[in-house]
Amino acid sequence: MRAEAQLDKVYMPFSGRNVAVIGAGIIGISSALYLKRAGLDVTVVDPLPPGSATSYGNAGMVRHDCNVPVAMPGMLRQVPGWLLNPLGPLVLRPSYALKAAPWLLQWIRAGRMDRVNSAADALCKLHEGNLACYRDLIGGDTFETLIREVGGIQIWESEASGLSDRITAEINRRQGVVTEPLSRRDLERILPGISGIAKRGLLYPNNAHTTNPHRLVTAIAERLRQAGGIFATERVLKIIPREGGGYTLMTNTANRKADIVVIAAGAWSNRLLEPLGAGLPLETERGYHLMLPTPSIELPMPLQMKNRGFALSPMEHGLRLAGTVEIAGLEAAPDERRSEILLKHARALFPDLKGGQPTIWMGYRPSLPDSVPAIGEVPKYRCLYIATGHGHTGMIGGGSTGRLLAELVIGNRPYIDPAPYSPTRF
Ligand SMILES: Cc1cc2nc3c(=O)[nH]c(=O)nc-3n(C[C@H](O)[C@H](O)[C@H](O)COP(=O)(O)OP(=O)(O)OC[C@H]3O[C@@H](n4cnc5c(N)ncnc54)[C@H](O)[C@@H]3O)c2cc1C
Repeated sequence: MRAEAQLDKVYMPFSGRNVAVIGAGIIGISSALYLKRAGLDVTVVDPLPPGSATSYGNAGMVRHDCNVPVAMPGMLRQVPGWLLNPLGPLVLRPSYALKAAPWLLQWIRAGRMDRVNSAADALCKLHEGNLACYRDLIGGDTFETLIREVGGIQIWESEASGLSDRITAEINRRQGVVTEPLSRRDLERILPGISGIAKRGLLYPNNAHTTNPHRLVTAIAERLRQAGGIFATERVLKIIPREGGGYTLMTNTANRKADIVVIAAGAWSNRLLEPLGAGLPLETERGYHLMLPTPSIELPMPLQMKNRGFALSPMEHGLRLAGTVEIAGLEAAPDERRSEILLKHARALFPDLKGGQPTIWMGYRPSLPDSVPAIGEVPKYRCLYIATGHGHTGMIGGGSTGRLLAELVIGNRPYIDPAPYSPTRF
């Protein structure tokens, strides 16, 4: 009954047909195609080609049944150990510590158990329909060439389980997530050559990954182009509300008018929101990848090691080692050692791993303290929408975010309750 009331509350017809979507990452492109299919005139504005920022080089997981937020009870006690460990999963650049402090405090507060449970449920609801959305967006044939529904494995280096493992297990149980415990012997069977550091694992049989996140975004962008969507290769400098409704987007080369604006500019979204007095507690958790183009091992599915904060994902163009979190803002130069650490982790797991000349990359996760994205109308600004803050799960919730966002814009009854993602919650 309460959910019904909330759904009715958000129903509001849109005004105007002309939509500008700022940002051509997985979130902007998925939203844009759903909006186009709903009959609106859609222009995507981005100085980069589709899928060239954070959506380019991630670990490619598009369904991960484990819907827990990053901040968890007891995590604070682990943070000093992580920060002191040069191989650790989390680094905070000292020069950026003061700037990041307010966000980190909110992140710590988000680790309270009641908030973890509600964040986990919000993530679960958003992630549930994601694969169906990708299938809908790119069509079954292309889906089959890009997405492998073969599961994923989490690996531990100790037999003992910590507090966050126990909380995750309880959330999995409550959400009905299917998992299968794997013994050391199971791991040896499934992953020949795995070293003795891997003591046990957990199989998530319903996980899925894309073998090329960039190609997934470009496939959706191609559908948008075919449907008549327009791409403007421009950077938005300012969003100016117009008298009588709508907005002017001041870009580096033009002033563009739009009835409806969707900000899906990932970690850069606050640069457009803050001048409007509508900034979000958005920080970037920078992450790295290292690609081995000719790996000596063939993984049947992605592997994750949470204590090392990294994943190994089999891609169509090699083996991708991806992960770690670096809090250093949007301006600092990449620290290439973070990518090299990924190779050390991978060789701890597979000592004989070789793979040709590696390439390295860094991306900017757009992260809100509670790990739940902000999807909806910006408070006080009619027809200005935001879709960002997906942190570690933008590919796992990209298609479903596009669907929800488009339903909110056109005023259709949303397929899931949008309240947990409301930008007004901060
Ligand atoms: C190492 C690593 C591994 C990851 N692994 C996974 C994973 O396995 N699964 C998963 O679900 N998620 C993963 N993620 C997270 C995921 O990649 C992100 O959540 C997702 O890509 C965010 O998408 P986005 O569209 O919001 O942002 P982006 O892909 O960063 O796109 C934002 C776009 O906005 C544009 N833009 C910015 N400012 C402006 C402006 N002023 N005007 C116009 N355009 C602008 C940018 O050019 C960019 O193209 C990982 C991230 C990293 C770093």
